[in-house]
Amino acid sequence: MATPPQLTPEERSAALAKASIARKRRAFIKSQIKDGQISIKEIFNLAKEDEAIAKMRVAEMLESVTGVGKIRALAIMEKLAISPTRRVKGLGKNQIESLLLEFHSVKENFATRGKLIVLSGPGGVGKSTVATELRKTGDYWVSISATTRAPRVNEVEGVDYYFISDQEFESRITADEFLEWAIFAGAKYGTPRDGVEKALLAGHNLLLEIEIEGAQQVKRHMPEAILVFLEPPSWEDLVSRLEGRGTDSPERRTERLALAQKELASASLFDLVIVNSSVEQVVAQLVSLASA
Ligand code: 5GP
Repeated sequence: MATPPQLTPEERSAALAKASIARKRRAFIKSQIKDGQISIKEIFNLAKEDEAIAKMRVAEMLESVTGVGKIRALAIMEKLAISPTRRVKGLGKNQIESLLLEFHSVKENFATRGKLIVLSGPGGVGKSTVATELRKTGDYWVSISATTRAPRVNEVEGVDYYFISDQEFESRITADEFLEWAIFAGAKYGTPRDGVEKALLAGHNLLLEIEIEGAQQVKRHMPEAILVFLEPPSWEDLVSRLEGRGTDSPERRTERLALAQKELASASLFDLVIVNSSVEQVVAQLVSLASA
């Protein structure tokens, strides 16, 4: 390997200053891509004369496009046989053409994609009732989660949940089949990734009714998701709802109350907080969110 050139202190500080300018330039361009002010096609044109842009990683560029994100960017690159470390200036003519083609369809798909709403909040606040009512409006599809907990009386496989073993859940995690997953009160819960992608691509608004940690994971993977926190009208109201549940053992109820207290403190992490004073009102707000 060739020995790196020996730099004088002046040359080194000049090189550092140049690198810092290039980084700022790339950050600016990425924010422009995100805001839709510059297209991928324009980036390729700029890269012919702008060294900072030419040295931008293709993955960084793709991730900046609204609706793409890290996982999707890598999937697109893998599909087009572009190495994950490739820089813009290292792309061949055919790769540029395929990327432009791919992005034309991403953009079109994005415009017609459904909205993804994540409904979360403390256990017992009434999320599942809201989800059931929302499904009836026909404005939303509701994602069906997988869980390792046992079905409750009246719960139906494939309607309320996919009830699976711990072993199957683990193998699905390994196969990266969940958009998010979390452990809640000793059981695992996860959102099947495939169903979400398909529903949104088909233009359906989709509701995920999940706990808080999972909601944060969704936002990290899909920043376009709108996180809604459902709050009880009061703490007393939540306690009486949880205590009125005939399905949980006393130990489980105590556990859930302690957890609910912690969960209530997470409201600030959400895009929107809705107080569940009336299910009809919550449903109406969520429907108007879908058409906003
Ligand atoms: P339950 O056992 O009462 O049906 O649900 C317990 C908690 O798990 C609720 O807060 C519910 O919203 C949440 N949950 C249901 N499905 C999922 C899921 O797929 N992912 C995550 N993270 N939480 C879920």
